[in-house]
Amino acid sequence: MIDSHCHLDEERYGADLPEVMERARAAGLSAMICIGSGHDLTSARASVSLAARAADVYATVGIHPHDVARMTEADWVELGDLVKRPRVVGVGETGLDYFYDHSPRDTQRAAYRRFVALARQHGKPLSSHIRDAHEDAATILREERAAEVGGVIHCFTGGVEDARRYLDLGHHLSFSGIMTFKNAQPIRDAAVFAPLDRILVETDAPFLAPVPHRGKRNEPAFLVHTIAALAELRGIGVEEAAAATARNARRLFALE
Ligand SMILES: [Zn+2]
Repeated sequence: MIDSHCHLDEERYGADLPEVMERARAAGLSAMICIGSGHDLTSARASVSLAARAADVYATVGIHPHDVARMTEADWVELGDLVKRPRVVGVGETGLDYFYDHSPRDTQRAAYRRFVALARQHGKPLSSHIRDAHEDAATILREERAAEVGGVIHCFTGGVEDARRYLDLGHHLSFSGIMTFKNAQPIRDAAVFAPLDRILVETDAPFLAPVPHRGKRNEPAFLVHTIAALAELRGIGVEEAAAATARNARRLFALE
């Protein structure tokens, strides 16, 4: 199993991060992609350094769409350096969030275009956070030719029509613990609709713990519940769902 999106640099895993990682390994995870994207570059730097220390952790680098309004040119310069570091396998999370609108929408769009350009320049795939902005996101991914490097819509929260749009653009979809929530039927429909070779799974830990841990601090070991839900929805074995989603993550992020 591979957790394609978790935030192990978060302050919530202070002293017990080693135990959290041990529980993930014991649960059968072979790799974790630590998403280095926060308010500023602290998260990117921390993720790059964690990936350098742990053989089963890889990193991505970015700034969350919430916070792009505060980005400086110096941030872009440093990102251009961080993305070249060893074991940095992608750019993100980047994207558009029109639900919270913490940064103005035109600023979010401009930054997202620039992140796609950065990904193409370095030949690394994108990890995108898209909330209530599927149409604009698809337009940007198409116009900026994101298909050249590919990517994943992390924690996918759209329905079948949104899924179709991203799949047509050559993107993957990643499903999180939200898939196990009662009111998430459109997301489950999309998880059945998408071809199995385009599906990734993630915890987005420490956020969004799946049932039966809903409301608690999430951690990569809980990925098993999301994989079990995916297997049941698609009528396949848990082993097959685990192997397929791990294979997809390895291919997309070119993991060793
Ligand atoms: Zn995230």
